[in-house]
Amino acid sequence: MVKVEPTLLERIKKYGAFDVNACFSCGVCTAICPLSTENGEFPRRIIRYAMLGLEDKLLGSTELWSCYYCGECTKSCPRQADPGGFMMATRRYAITRYSWGKVASIFYSKLWSPVVLAILSAIMAIGAWLVHGPIITSKVDLMAFIPKNYIHEGGVALGIFVFISALVNLLIAYKYIRRTSNKNATSIRSWIEGFFNILIKEVLWQNRYLKCSNRNRFYAHMAIFWGFILLFIATGIDYITGVRQPVAEILGFIGGALIIYGSGYFIYKRLEGKEEFVLYSDFIDWAFVWLIMLAGITGFLLDLFTVINAPLPAYTTFIIHLIVVFDLLVTAPFTKFAHAGYRPFALWIDSALKSKA
Ligand code: SF4
Ligand code: SF4
Repeated sequence: MVKVEPTLLERIKKYGAFDVNACFSCGVCTAICPLSTENGEFPRRIIRYAMLGLEDKLLGSTELWSCYYCGECTKSCPRQADPGGFMMATRRYAITRYSWGKVASIFYSKLWSPVVLAILSAIMAIGAWLVHGPIITSKVDLMAFIPKNYIHEGGVALGIFVFISALVNLLIAYKYIRRTSNKNATSIRSWIEGFFNILIKEVLWQNRYLKCSNRNRFYAHMAIFWGFILLFIATGIDYITGVRQPVAEILGFIGGALIIYGSGYFIYKRLEGKEEFVLYSDFIDWAFVWLIMLAGITGFLLDLFTVINAPLPAYTTFIIHLIVVFDLLVTAPFTKFAHAGYRPFALWIDSALKSKA
């Protein structure tokens, strides 16, 4: 039996879909969307689900994650119903509904989000202060300043928390998708092929993003993605070898520069406030881009201070870097960062199920 939630639209509106009531289902948005396919009818279909209160259908729709918020539909809507903004608001809502214990609701709360972020930052700062080792001033020695075993144990604990949280959230999303999908599960081979297809085309190259007309946004998005990959590799090299390696420094420089460029673009666009995709931002959306920018700047400076051998600036930057990276990672399954998981996951399921048809 189809369950109807009369307050669904009002709940979604809290996340930014202020104008969607004006929609009269003309279909212009679907026709104009560069990512809508013959079989796909987004964003119009998702708007209808919200208006009819079909929460399960809405949360089980993989189309929700097919949108990259280019804003073309919003520019073309004859009713100024802001379908692109509606899709973004609905993804925010979905993130809160998919998250275990509804934890993501805290991060999308205007009141609690800054409080919780401040508490998390304080926990990390106090923890780093409590475990720090000798402050060697003759040369930069990060592994002596924060001993490797603490970085290792803290990193493993954080990694397990993030991994399990992301996994549970994805399973909740999967439950919604399977409950409402009218397609059957396909062969293992389809799942494996679909996985590598999405990994290469949509994660590493972000092919669908390219279809949006704003190439600058695509470049900035790619820069952030690859910047993090490079920082991750640099951190891994340092961790495995136990000392700061020249190759890790180079990767750190490049990764930091890419992240600063990409996040700088999004911060500039948000401050400028002209393009559709920045017209509404929650506190956590702002915090997210600033944390990314800070991760890039501190990663970049950390390498610089190490190369020019400036111990005290390096240690100070290291602490800030740890706080920022901790905040980013621990909140990742519950904030905008979660797009990085839900989007390829939804596309993967969609491709695997479609391949049977
Ligand atoms: S959101 Fe606008 S363009 Fe899309 S169906 Fe509604 S009125 Fe038409
Ligand atoms: S914002 Fe862009 S990608 Fe999303 S539904 Fe509108 S036109 Fe399509």
